[in-house]
Amino acid sequence: MPNKPYDQLVAELDRIFYIQSVCRLLEWDEQVNLPSGAAEVRASQSAIMAGLHHQSATNPEIGEWLEALEQQSDSLTDDQKLVLKEAAKSYRRITRLPAEFVKRRASAQSKSYHAWVKARENSDFETFAPFLQEQIDLTHEEANYLGEGDAVYDYCIDKHDPEMKASTIEKLFADLKTDLIPLVNKIVDSPVKPDFSILKGFQVDRQEAFLKTVVRDIGFDFKHGRIDQSIHPFCSGIGSDIRMTTRFDEDNPIDSLTGAVHEAGHGLYDQGLPRTHPGTALSDYVGMAVHESQSRLWENQVGRGRAFWNYYEPQYREVFPEQLKAVSSEALFLAINGVKRNPIRFESDEVTYNLHIILRFEIEKQLFDQTLAVKDLPEAWNALSQEIVGLTPKNDREGVLQDIHWCDGSFGYFPSYCLGNMLAAQLWYTVLDAIPGLESEIEQGNFTSLLSWLRETIHRHGKRYNTLELTRRATGKPLGPDALIRYLKERYLPLYN
Ligand code: ZN
Repeated sequence: MPNKPYDQLVAELDRIFYIQSVCRLLEWDEQVNLPSGAAEVRASQSAIMAGLHHQSATNPEIGEWLEALEQQSDSLTDDQKLVLKEAAKSYRRITRLPAEFVKRRASAQSKSYHAWVKARENSDFETFAPFLQEQIDLTHEEANYLGEGDAVYDYCIDKHDPEMKASTIEKLFADLKTDLIPLVNKIVDSPVKPDFSILKGFQVDRQEAFLKTVVRDIGFDFKHGRIDQSIHPFCSGIGSDIRMTTRFDEDNPIDSLTGAVHEAGHGLYDQGLPRTHPGTALSDYVGMAVHESQSRLWENQVGRGRAFWNYYEPQYREVFPEQLKAVSSEALFLAINGVKRNPIRFESDEVTYNLHIILRFEIEKQLFDQTLAVKDLPEAWNALSQEIVGLTPKNDREGVLQDIHWCDGSFGYFPSYCLGNMLAAQLWYTVLDAIPGLESEIEQGNFTSLLSWLRETIHRHGKRYNTLELTRRATGKPLGPDALIRYLKERYLPLYN
């Protein structure tokens, strides 16, 4: 039975999606290609496109179609109900914010960004504090407009990982922390130390060719995507046109390679989402935690694993014969899986990384509980860093000022990284049970069954289930830290004796 308001809604959602995809393409181009003299014209282009997107997304007709559909919701299919629910949520969020507020927030974000860059440069938190306070106040104000003022931090988390709650994360992280801190202590206190200095002078053009081969082997479709260079690696685009980036360092080739495999994991997820109606929840990803689980499973469980390197090491040695001739297989594998306490989150290994996230979650929670004042933030950060990560940063630049996330009010984003790690490990053990020969397949450079399993178990569902429900369906268990701890112990304890 044709349903006119539903069809009109879907057509409009698709149109809005394509407008937004043009905005993202402009951003990609800005990071990858833009000549330095074109920054001003790009800012105008981006502002016009953002205005067009906002105008379309707040089109009052959408409100009318949603209302008509809500009145006949009994006659809708489950898929239609899902599309309706998610479209109504986005529409509410975008239309309930007064234009004056949106403008004021954008201007505050831009000022805050520049203040953060400067404060970070000078390692001077005090100059950034008023801007951060303003971002927190704006977040409260935003949540109030949306009727979510009673649980502001939950609202922040929901923006990145829909339906996830701070109380759920608190319990998961508390359990993870209990097992993870002693495990990290054991690894970093081991007399076995990775020697990162063995990986020096890896020519960038060869690195690039090698990582493209790897990314193609694991299933990334270059007919529907590409990989370029940028200062900060990212993955954007839509399923049929994925744009991802990596960066190169002659003296840190593993970072480029694992970074590219990470972004390819995001790209594989996007390429695997249903494409029929790209503007609807049927084709959308679940949230950042599930997205990160996909990138991290390929980067860590697969890309740092023994089976993977048994296959790629001979090829790697062929590409870099001089650099690797005096490096043993054990030393190479240890450097790939190097663990070391580091004050900087994004330079951290996959074991200690989780501690950095727990630290940020605890700080954000206190900021929004209002049990921590902005002026006391550096002291609280340093004390918690010592307690959780096991070191005190030398200064604010290496501490509380290191991340970009807070300067534009992206609170509630950090937890997704660690939830993604938990889910990745849980998926890994599930797929090993489901496909007993998987590791021997990987050892032969065959990643087809793993990718098909992820397509079937995760990708094809779009946004049908939230993170917790999808985890239960995919793994038969609730999301928890046990698989991650098991995986880290099995991978790292034998390596570090
Ligand atoms: Zn990622």
